[in-house]
Amino acid sequence: MSSPDSYCIEPIGVVHSCYREKFGIPRQPGLVDAARAVVELDPRFGSRESVEGLEAYSHIWILFVFHETAAQGWKPQVRPPRLGGNKKMGVYATRSMFRPNPIGQSVVKLDFIEYGEKIKLHLSGIDLLDQTPVLDVKPYIPYVESIPDATAGSFQQAPLATTKVTFCSDALLQLEQFDELYPELKRLIEQILEQDPRPAYHKENGREYGIALYDLNICWIVKGDEFEVLSIESVGDEGSPTSR
Ligand code: SAH
Repeated sequence: MSSPDSYCIEPIGVVHSCYREKFGIPRQPGLVDAARAVVELDPRFGSRESVEGLEAYSHIWILFVFHETAAQGWKPQVRPPRLGGNKKMGVYATRSMFRPNPIGQSVVKLDFIEYGEKIKLHLSGIDLLDQTPVLDVKPYIPYVESIPDATAGSFQQAPLATTKVTFCSDALLQLEQFDELYPELKRLIEQILEQDPRPAYHKENGREYGIALYDLNICWIVKGDEFEVLSIESVGDEGSPTSR
């Protein structure tokens, strides 16, 4: 039998993530362990039976759609941000979002499974945007997938967290306000900023940025080699915060 030219794939669930916008999301999972998300399974695909045995795994693969950028299409060559944005590489040699099939894959920590009306997978160390459609969930199998002598392109080294992150006194007071709701917020902000989320072409001193985490806007400024968090505020009626 010949195979069909295309396949119809339906999401099995949706991501609820601390990352409400693309700006600030690390380039790979595992870099920010305080980043949390819940995958809520669609009851048609996510019964108790369907996840039986999954809790035995510390880590799982999430296959998902790059839904936010999917409409932008793809090109055979991309400019990986890790190469400063000025060197091209074949799309299949990168983890770019802009691929013929906009499918992403992330290995993440499975903290626990919540068995309610819907099955919810609680995850950490994620690099997933809020509302990401999930195509599949698979266990991470260390004896197959952890390959200590594997080699990679020279730019694929774990990024060094070299940026110093400080909080001004107002931001520290605001952090206290959100302590009950988001006890890991300080660590989350530090871990994200230590990765230097700025695009390669933005490097000037004194520039201010905003990052959307949960329902908060985190405002920070570049001060030489240091990033200072200026304010942490609930997103009000002014609309959604964006990087400036
Ligand atoms: N680990 C995945 C993703 C790597 S690219 C893989 O290797 O396939 C990581 C970037 O994906 C993040 O910086 C974030 O900006 C982007 N991203 C995450 N979820 C997305 C979504 N739903 N749509 C578009 N981009 C997304």
